[in-house]
Amino acid sequence: MIKDNLKSTLAQINGRAQLIAVSKKKPNEALLEAYNVGQRDFGENYVQELVEKSESLPKDIKWHMIGHLQTNKVKYIAPFVYLIHSVDSEKLLKEINKQGKKNERIINVLLQLHIAEEDSKTGFDKTELLELLKSEKLDNYQNIKVLGLMGMSTFTENEQQVEREFSSLKQLNDEIKKEQLPKNVTLNEISMGMSGDWELALKHGSTMLRIGSSIFGLRN
Ligand SMILES: *Cc1c(COP(=O)(O)O)cnc(C)c1O
Repeated sequence: MIKDNLKSTLAQINGRAQLIAVSKKKPNEALLEAYNVGQRDFGENYVQELVEKSESLPKDIKWHMIGHLQTNKVKYIAPFVYLIHSVDSEKLLKEINKQGKKNERIINVLLQLHIAEEDSKTGFDKTELLELLKSEKLDNYQNIKVLGLMGMSTFTENEQQVEREFSSLKQLNDEIKKEQLPKNVTLNEISMGMSGDWELALKHGSTMLRIGSSIFGLRN
């Protein structure tokens, strides 16, 4: 099942973006099934689950933290996490940098933007992001590399609204890339698109798709 779902998802994506298999709340066996088809990038939402899985699953897996991350939990994933998608505050950036230094590594992050028209989703807004990138703060965070931006669309059937939100993230990305950026900011990645809306995300320039239920089945 998982094997076939993964293969057909990959065939549809057809190399146009990277697939992050979102395996939250799924058992190790499910991840191994995907691993055995060649999947190496997995996304998790909960720190404790991420730590446990990373300890018992193959070491060449790249672990993506995609859920809201509390500052006091950064230390648990800092030694091994490959990319943190959900950085939504300066306080969190600062802590990731501190833990990166402690672990003598550079931690890759994405800055999460608030693109949804609904209020509930977290992230920086455009003004905050521009301010952060223009300030000298990022230059001081030498144990962080900002690879790009992340966004989540509103949960709605209205495809035009979803497209509008994805396209606003892409536009902002292109706008910022024209600026003089700190050395540790590259902005080559846009993480957007989930099971229900990844095709729309791809159409608007997504480079990383975070797909869970279409591969692993529904979660309870
Ligand atoms: C759960 C989750 C996903 C995957 O959702 P599906 O609808 O199962 O594909 C993607 N991104 C984030 C941030 C998530 O929490």
